[in-house]
Amino acid sequence: MGVPGCGKGTQAVALAKNFGYTHISTGSMLRKLMEEDNLKSSEARMLKSMKSGKLVSDKFVYKLVHAEIDKSFQKSKGVVLDGAIRSLRQAKSYQKYFSKHNLGNEIAVIDIHISDQVSLERMMYRKDNSKVVREDDDPKIMKKRIKKQGNKAIKPILNYYEKMGVLKTVNGEQDVDKVHMDIVDLLWP
Ligand code: AMP
Repeated sequence: MGVPGCGKGTQAVALAKNFGYTHISTGSMLRKLMEEDNLKSSEARMLKSMKSGKLVSDKFVYKLVHAEIDKSFQKSKGVVLDGAIRSLRQAKSYQKYFSKHNLGNEIAVIDIHISDQVSLERMMYRKDNSKVVREDDDPKIMKKRIKKQGNKAIKPILNYYEKMGVLKTVNGEQDVDKVHMDIVDLLWP
């Protein structure tokens, strides 16, 4: 978990690669879907809200993610969810889903913490330096993303996991490798 630009994609990939998990990134799945030609009008509407920096509807995300998790569980592989939980309602819904699979107590939540200011700076940097153009990496939309997905917005989700006793926080304003090492230390002390 974390605000935009916290490095959750990079860290999720490293964790999945080094420890044999399936990496599930909702942002990447949605961007891939966006490239398809024959989108249904409901899908096109949903993706429009993504382009404007808002969250897409829960149902849409669950459909994509549940199918991927199921596939991975069939292969007895765990998953690293990257950006898949963006609201308290989503957090509760995933928890129901995991409990249904008898995995309610098998989760760990990592908050890669960076400030909103660093979040903004990193999105700006990504816009200017990445080969991949993201339509939501636009200065006006970045501010909106901070409002909708910044530290204040994710606080209720973090509180929920803290109460469950599964939340672990790392300092995301460090070197990428150090963040990875901190995550590994927290997961397997
Ligand atoms: P990301 O690549 O994780 O930064 O996600 C890019 C965009 O995809 C977000 O700004 C949202 O519009 C959308 N998105 C990704 N994951 C979710 C989710 N779990 N719920 C709703 N919208 C999401």
